[in-house]
Order: sequence, then C-alpha cells, then structure tokens
Amino acid sequence: MSASLRVIPPGSAVGVLGSGQLGRMFAIAARRMGYRVHTLSPESDTPTGQVADLEVRADYEDLDAVGAFASGVSVVTFEFENVSAAAVAAAASRAPVRPSGEVLHVCQQRLREKSFLRAAGLPVSDFVAVRSPDELARGLLRVGAPAILKTAAFGYDGKGQAKVASLAEAETAFAAVGGQECILEAFVPFEREVSVVAARGEDGAFAHFGVIENVHARHILDVSVAPASLEPRLAAEAVDLARAVLERLEVVGVLCVEMFVAPGGRLLINELAPRPHNSGHLTFDAAVTSQFEQQLRAVVGLPLGSTELLRPAAMANLLGDLWAAGEPDWVRACAFPEVKLHLYGKAQARRGRKMGHLTAMAPTAAEARARVLAARAALVTP
Ligand code: AMP
Repeated sequence: MSASLRVIPPGSAVGVLGSGQLGRMFAIAARRMGYRVHTLSPESDTPTGQVADLEVRADYEDLDAVGAFASGVSVVTFEFENVSAAAVAAAASRAPVRPSGEVLHVCQQRLREKSFLRAAGLPVSDFVAVRSPDELARGLLRVGAPAILKTAAFGYDGKGQAKVASLAEAETAFAAVGGQECILEAFVPFEREVSVVAARGEDGAFAHFGVIENVHARHILDVSVAPASLEPRLAAEAVDLARAVLERLEVVGVLCVEMFVAPGGRLLINELAPRPHNSGHLTFDAAVTSQFEQQLRAVVGLPLGSTELLRPAAMANLLGDLWAAGEPDWVRACAFPEVKLHLYGKAQARRGRKMGHLTAMAPTAAEARARVLAARAALVTP
C-alpha cells in the first residue's frame, strides 16, 4: 500500500476528545481544509462545539458513548489529555487515536512524565515521588529547599502546586491536597521560560516552530513571544530536546515541550503537553501553518506544513479577571491594526479562566510584545 493511500482525505470526519479553545482553533483549521469535526466532552455549547459539525455531550468515562463517537470519525485526536486509558482504548477499538494512548499515559501524570524524561537521559530538575509525610520529609532533604510540590495527576495552570521553603510549609501543602500522590521538584531559579511546539508525522517527519519565550503570572501563561531571544546554541539545543521527546514517544501529532533556561544557560524540561499549546497560539496568525493545522495534518497523514514564522509575533492571554468591571471594550483592542482578537465563546468569565487571547505582529519580537501588551492594557483602561 503506498503512503498516500493511508491519508484521511478532506471531507472525512475528525474526532476531538475535549471541547475547549484548543479544539476550537483545531476545528477552525480543519473546517477550513474541508474536514468535518466532531467533539466529545461532558459539556454543551462549548468553545469547540460552537464551531464543530457535531457536538456530543457525554462523560469521558462513558465508554459506550466514546466508542460510538469514534465509530463516526476516521481518526480521533484530543485537546484534553486527562482521558483514562479505558476511554482511549474504547476509542482505539473503533478508529485510530493519534497521538497514541501510550503518549497520553506518559504525559497525563507528572511523575510518569518526569521519570520518562529522566530515564531517556533528558535534562530535568531533581525530583522525588511523595506518597506519605515520611517521603515528603526525606524528599525535601534530597531536593533541597525551596522546592515545588505538585499533585502528580490532573494538574494544569498551576492548580495543585505550591512553592515550599521549609518542611512545615511542605507538610501544609501536602495536607492541602489531601495527601494525594505528589511530585516534589527542586525549585529552578530560571532566567527565562521557553517552549518548543513541534509535530511528528506517522512517517517520522518532524517540524518545529522554533523557540517561543513565555512569561507566566500566577503559574498561568501570560505572554508568549516568537522568536525567543535565545543564543543560537541554546535555541538549537532546545529544538534537539523537543525532537528527542517526540521521537522517543513516537508521537503522531503535535507536542509542546516547556523548558526552563536555568542559570548558566542550562536547559531543563519542565513539562510536556501532547497537543497544541497556549504558547503556540501565535502561530495561528503568524506562521505559514498553525499548530492546529499541523495537528490536523499529522493525524490525518498529510505532509506537515511549513512552520515558517511570517513575522515576529507576541500573544497575550485574556483571563476572566479582565471582566471584573464588565465586558472589556473590544473596540479598543481592535483599534490596533496589527493586533488580532481571539475569543473562545465562553459564557462565564471566572478569575484565571482563559477567555481569549490577542496576537500582535511587528518588525521585531520586542515591538510585537509591546504592541500586544498595549492592546491588552487598552481593553480595561477607563
Ligand atoms: P507547570 O504546571 O509545571 O507547568 O508549572 C507552571 C509554572 O510554575 C511554570 O511555568 C513555572 O513558571 C513555575 N514552576 C513550575 N515548576 C517549577 C520549578 N521546579 N521551579 C521553578 N518554577 C517552577
């Protein structure tokens, strides 16, 4: 069978598990190329469902529903990785799931993820598993203070994590998460945070969007800028690390590798996301192929597209906090002609909830950053 026979062609239906903004942007990219998009999640009128061909409301653990959903599509991908192995198996019995359940398994639990990276010889900060107060005390002695205690499972946007400077603080943090399984990591006094969003095809083809620089606020991504102002040696190393991760995991799809630039110019991998990532949102406007189109191409077996950045770009998240005094004035952001407004169609604005983002393009990354921040500030300036 020739390679081209395995391509899932436009007109086919692609299934997305999860229904947030990542699925929404994926659906926009996929529909633009003539694919149909089905989404499954426990909610309705979701960011993805609003632009999909079909929105199925079902629990991820409703294996019959997940199986039926997969029967209706040619391939299943996801934008929410905390789907159980049983649900992935239910989908995989009816349609290919890309990336595979093994990739999900590694990435959905911080201890498994960090252990995989360390076993692969990839650089991570020192860490230990914590399942009891005793392990916590021994672990803190090993990794040293300050440290970061994170729940091993189901964490995102800094939920379930705390910086601890002493055993007393660590005990309080451990008790606060009900003593559930945690990972205790050495705190990295990083110089900056960067990410590499990359894709891998079934044929092993690899493409990356270069290094993106990220600034977090309250553990939530705040601003991303591309290209990152990183010395070429480090940038090449960051891409090599990403390639190693995608190859070792045999990813078919998009995966983001988040890294710290530690003092002395050392890269340490913090986290993997086996899907498009918030830091790659700027590719939607600023790259020849967006991370969402790239995910589609990878999972349907099309050749990967060019990841060339058309112009330096910056992205600023719009969190629910911006709604504190009512709906922001969108006219003000749109008055910046090089700024693109993205809203995710979420009805309820809550503190810390990702409601949308702005992307700015400019002749330099620094100018793009200044523009996007000015546009965001203008939204709430009386
Ligand atoms: P995470 O949920 O692991 O992506 O963490 C969210 C953010 O918390 C990171 O992007 C960092 O800004 C910060 N953070 C997490 N782990 C560490 C660490 N070991 N040392 C320093 N900062 C960290």
